[in-house]
Amino acid sequence: MLCEMCGKEVELTARVRIEGTILSVGPECEKFGTRVDPVPTPPSAGGPRPSNTYGAPATRTAGGGRRMEERDLYTEIGELELAPDWFKRVRVAREALGWTPEDLGKKLNEKKSVVLKLESGGLHPPDALVRKIERLLKTRLRADPAAPA
Ligand SMILES: [Zn+2]
Repeated sequence: MLCEMCGKEVELTARVRIEGTILSVGPECEKFGTRVDPVPTPPSAGGPRPSNTYGAPATRTAGGGRRMEERDLYTEIGELELAPDWFKRVRVAREALGWTPEDLGKKLNEKKSVVLKLESGGLHPPDALVRKIERLLKTRLRADPAAPA
């Protein structure tokens, strides 16, 4: 399966909430978000390990103050350069698939209002959401001069 954050092929994904969006990400990108449900144990894992180790509390989160992970996330957002008409591409690609804004919203775990705001260019999506939209709509939102016409 693919990590929805960086697009890399990973063995296991965890569902994490990143900036209000639920993504399935690999172990490397899990730290950018908040885990929303446990990682499924791989069927091939025949070890004696109990399956509920994921419930262990993370000791680092208890401390006061901002966590490093948050800072990393903020630097990550906006890293991608979007095409000038990226929001038009979202609408055109969505309509080509016959999806309503609600349909797209559901697939993105976002509200319809968020989709409409995106399509009007009133909301700049974080990189994770850009990648998710690109994958869902099979379109490219990023400015990429090297891409074939
Ligand atoms: Zn990743």
